[in-house]
Amino acid sequence: MKNLLLIFSGPSGVGKGTILQELRKDGNFIDSVSCTTRSPREGELNGREYFFVSSEQFKNMIERGELLEYDEHFGNFYGTPRAFVEEKLQSYDVILEIEVNGALSVKRAYPSAVLIFIAPPSVQELKSRLIGRGSEDIEKIENRLARLDYELSKKGEYDFVVVNDNLMEAVEEIKSIIKAQRAII
Ligand code: ADP
Ligand code: 5GP
Repeated sequence: MKNLLLIFSGPSGVGKGTILQELRKDGNFIDSVSCTTRSPREGELNGREYFFVSSEQFKNMIERGELLEYDEHFGNFYGTPRAFVEEKLQSYDVILEIEVNGALSVKRAYPSAVLIFIAPPSVQELKSRLIGRGSEDIEKIENRLARLDYELSKKGEYDFVVVNDNLMEAVEEIKSIIKAQRAII
């Protein structure tokens, strides 16, 4: 593989979306668009944030082997389309933003994938970011926090852990990781 497959995980609300937005400003990355059975949030577009599919369509994709990995998360299914990633990797570095189970499955299939875990400076700060984002009601926020310990327990299996305390410092750290990885492929 001559381009990088960069996989980002971390608890909901830790700042993955915000960091990736900064990273895209000076890189030539392609974001993989996952399939999900969850409903679109306000402002999300089909084919941009996700391909929003029915449970039936998702099941068919699993059966046809069209997903590189998939996982059930917060009562919905999420999966990475295999053909999209393999095709884009021919010409670009590809970014996946997926949860820990999916990320570790992709690493098994592509050992050269670079796994980066974004960690919060503290649980308290994570809670206030989730609440501050205002995109989920309190029940959904609690569901997301309930998964926190599990996600944090997997961070030792990642190639790199970056703490998102100061946003721009975290972004710079990730840029250095990418530069170093590019030099060794
Ligand atoms: P994720 O994509 O991991 O769920 P988001 O990127 O949506 O998280 O960030 C959650 C909230 O935290 C957003 O309101 C975002 O503006 C804020 N945020 C992200 N990074 C930082 C940071 N380093 N310091 C303070 N707030 C942050
Ligand atoms: P959200 O509903 O907030 O968009 O995403 C919920 C979780 O699903 C996040 O942790 C996100 O990283 C994860 N996710 C998104 N796409 C995929 C995917 O294709 N596969 C897996 N395993 N997780 C995904």
